[in-house]
Parts: sequence; structure tokens; C-alpha cells
Amino acid sequence: MTGTTYTSIDTIPSIVNTLRMQFNTGLTKDIQFRKEQLKNLIRFCNENNDALCKALWSDLRKHVIECDVGEISPIVDECQFMIKNLDKFCKPVHTNKRFLMNATDKTYTRKEAKGVVLVIGAWNYPVNLLLMPVVGAIAAGNCVLLKPSEVSRHTAEFIATVLPKYLDPRAYAVVTGGVPETTSLLENRFDHIFYTGNGQVGKIVMTAAAKHLTPVTLELGGKSPAFITEDADVNITAHRLMWGKFFNNGQTCVAPDYVLCHKSKLEPLLKAFQDTLIEYYGKDPHISESYGRIVSTRQFDRLKELLDNCDPSTVVIGGQTDREDLYIAPTIVSPITPEHVLMQEEIFGPILPIIPVDNMDEAINIVNNRDHPLALYVFASAKYKYNKILDKTSSGGVLINDILMHLQELSLPFGGVGPSGSGSYHGEKSFDIFTHSRSTMVKDLMAEPIAACRYPPYNEDKEKMLKVLVYGFPTGIGAKFSTLGSFCGAFWNFMFKKPESYSKL
Ligand code: NAD
Repeated sequence: MTGTTYTSIDTIPSIVNTLRMQFNTGLTKDIQFRKEQLKNLIRFCNENNDALCKALWSDLRKHVIECDVGEISPIVDECQFMIKNLDKFCKPVHTNKRFLMNATDKTYTRKEAKGVVLVIGAWNYPVNLLLMPVVGAIAAGNCVLLKPSEVSRHTAEFIATVLPKYLDPRAYAVVTGGVPETTSLLENRFDHIFYTGNGQVGKIVMTAAAKHLTPVTLELGGKSPAFITEDADVNITAHRLMWGKFFNNGQTCVAPDYVLCHKSKLEPLLKAFQDTLIEYYGKDPHISESYGRIVSTRQFDRLKELLDNCDPSTVVIGGQTDREDLYIAPTIVSPITPEHVLMQEEIFGPILPIIPVDNMDEAINIVNNRDHPLALYVFASAKYKYNKILDKTSSGGVLINDILMHLQELSLPFGGVGPSGSGSYHGEKSFDIFTHSRSTMVKDLMAEPIAACRYPPYNEDKEKMLKVLVYGFPTGIGAKFSTLGSFCGAFWNFMFKKPESYSKL
């Protein structure tokens, strides 16, 4: 996609306005309509599976298996889940009333669409990260404006051209472009903004949203650690860690960014990492069909500079690069310290540094001296070992003895904490973030004789009644009876004895 095919900035306000007008017609609130659109999204994924895989190959040289597992099948799964559960999710939720005064009233929350929502996607999973939140937004009954990442341009162009043939264009629109187009988009008022990407742009999005007091969900990144304790299973750790780190060429927000390895395990693990990488990608990963590429020369140059700043003797595995082909070999750098150049920023590429530690307390300190990560991994056999790490740290999510798999499990909410993001989604959570739970109370007209005790002029009888209606009856049988007696007396006086009371009105 070139700049010339980007959405014209002049047209952006009218695109947003049209969606708003359409939302106000109630089109997207119809549950059957939402289900139809979700079915259309499934059709989009199924009928265009090959074309999507081709676009993803062009952008990231993603293998078709990584496309299916990481990009397309989660969308289909999420749509099916929403279709199946939508009637249940849309039902009003009745609340347990706390006030005796409201005993005969109806109280519930209505599940209402927020309105027009903006979803801004990132380049590393350009299908998944754009469409996954869209599933929730559609299910909740919103109009949606989608903004794919311009960095994965083949996928963005494909989605912008083909998706509108499946989703009702009255309710859903795609805007393409880079920073100027997104900046222009953010000047408009939305009812929710869902952003995935880096924290710097997250701040820009949040600032723009603040101007309209628009709620935001920020799915950000950060440095996710992997703890390896002295009782970790070497073979399983190597297989799962190497798979999760080098999936999508290390360009995964929840990829392990660095390893905190118990010193006793370092040597056997390095050997196992080497063997596993040969098993996965052969002796020369450059010619492996299963190994992806860096998305752009900008990202490649950033990673290459990081590598060039490492002491060559610490690059124990990999290190080879080819700029023309955007190739960086699966690379392990060990040993490093927490002050190392690789520990400054999120790596977001196929380089894995290892910090050897004497014990897990030292590892916990290293993690706690940094921002809360998006994911935290622990490889350990004994429950008390990983529970100790969990108890003393914080992160968006946690996975014990594996990598990435918690993201695939759509029953678990996915999101960060603090600098790694705010808000979470997947499954029912996705429905919730795009839904306004509108508190609703329907007052009972028949209860007016009792309800009227709150009206002025105030007097002692009204006060006695209100005390019971607001605080309820005290505990203890004696106190209960005496309060009931006092309430009945006050009610009698209120109704029949006082000329200014309710019976006169
Ligand atoms: P990116 O470059 O694709 O940017 C994301 C979006 O922001 C794009 O649509 C882009 O057009 C827009 N954008 C960029 N600069 C902008 C600006 N100045 N003003 C307004 N909009 C702008 O993606 P990225 O930020 O390079 O993504 C990588 C980061 O995202 C990493 O930190 C990664 O960890 C994180 N990430 C997080 C998740 C998650 O689910 N938590 C998923 C993927 C990536």
C-alpha cells in the first residue's frame, strides 16, 4: 500500500459522522443483525484464508501454520463463541437490592452498545490484533471504525479492500494510513478507543481520547521475563521456550523478552536450546520455511544495532543477519547483566538474552525493579517455587511451564497492567469492554404509601420509618421485635394521625 491509497484525511470526519448517524438508527443494536455480521466475519476468514496467508507471508514471511494458529483461527473461534453466547450476554442482569425501601422495585443493568468505536491495530499480528477486538465490538452492538497498521501493508490493503464486502458498510468502515491519518482520526469523538501497539503511541492515543473523555483500552508491550528455576525440566523448557520466542520471528508482544536462569541450569539449557533450534529450523535457519522475517528495514536496523552493541563472545547462538532479506538468525546472548544494552527496551525480535541468577529472589528483584510486564513465564516443577514468584511479582498475565499458550485460551482475559496496558479482552471480556452496563431502576407505584415517608416536612415518625427502610432491621431477635414495633407505630401515626401526613395528600 502506498501513500496514495491511504484514506483521504478530508473524508475522515464524514466517515465517523456517517457511522454515528447509522448507530443512532439502531441498526447495529439488533441481535440478529450482530449475529449475521459475525457469521460474515467467519466467512471472510474462511473464504480468504489463502489470500490472508499470502499477505501475511509478504509482510512477515509467516508460515501458513503460524497464520492459522496465531491470526485466523482465533478470530473464527471468537466469532463462534460470541454467536453462541450473545443472547445470554445481552440479557439484563438483575441486581440484589440492598435497601428495604426498594424492596418492591425492579433493579437491573441493561447491556447497551457504547456507540461508535475505533480499533487501531498493530503490525505484528495484523489480522488478529485488528479483528479480535472488532468481534467484541460487533457483538456488543457498536458501529466500528477499523484502522489496520500501515507497517504490515499487504495485510492492511487486503483487509481494507475485501472486508467491506463481508461486513455491512453502513455500520463498519476501514480507514487506512499512517501517522497523519491516525492523528486525524483521533481528533474525532468516539465512544471507545481500542489501541494495540507501543506505549509511546499509547500515550498519544490516551491524550487524544482525554479531550473527548473517551474510554480507552490500551494493549501495550514491555519486557516479559521467563524465570527458569533449578528444578525446571530442561527438555520441555527448551522446546517450549524456543518455540514461543521465535514464533513470528520474536515479534510477539508476549514473547519472552529475557530469561532469568538459575545458574545450575545454564549450561544444560544452552545445549538444549542449540539442539532444539537445529531441530526446528535446521542448521541454517535462513533457508527454513518455518522461520519468519523482520517486518521492515527500520525494525531490522534497530535490532542489528542492539546486536552490534553486544560483546561478540556473549552471542552464544546465532547472530547472523542479512539486511536484504530482513533476516536475523535465532540468537541467544549469555550471560548478561540487568544493566546490559538488551535490557533497556523491549527487544521485539529474535534475540534472547539470559541473565544467570543465584536464586529466584535475585530474579524477582530484577523484575520488580522494572515496569510490570505484559506476560510473566515460570519454568518450575514444584508448585511452591512458582507460587512464590507469582506472590512477589505482578504482570498482565502469567503462564507456568509454557509460552504464549495463555493467549490462545480465550476463556482467560488478556491484557496488561500499568505500562503494559490497561483493560483486557477475549471472550466475554471483549463483549464487556464495548458494552455500557446501564443501571436501571423501575419504581413500584403501589409502594407510594411507604416511600412517601422521605418527603418533607420531616418529623420523628418519618425518621423512625426511614431508619428501618435505609438500615434494615438490627440483628438479635429482641432488637428486631422492638424495631418492628417502633416502625409499625410510626407508620400508623404517619398514615392516620398527622393531618399533614400522606393520608391527607
Ligand atoms: P505499529 O507501528 O503498527 O503502531 C500501532 C498503530 O499505531 C498503527 O495503526 C499506527 O498507524 C499507529 N500509530 C503509530 N504512530 C502513531 C502516532 N504517532 N499517532 C497516532 N497513531 C500512530 O505497532 P508498534 O507500536 O510498533 O507495535 C509494537 C508494540 O506493540 C510492541 O511494544 C508490542 O509489545 C506492542 N504490542 C502489544 C500487543 C498487545 O496485545 N498487548 C500486541 C501487539 C503488539
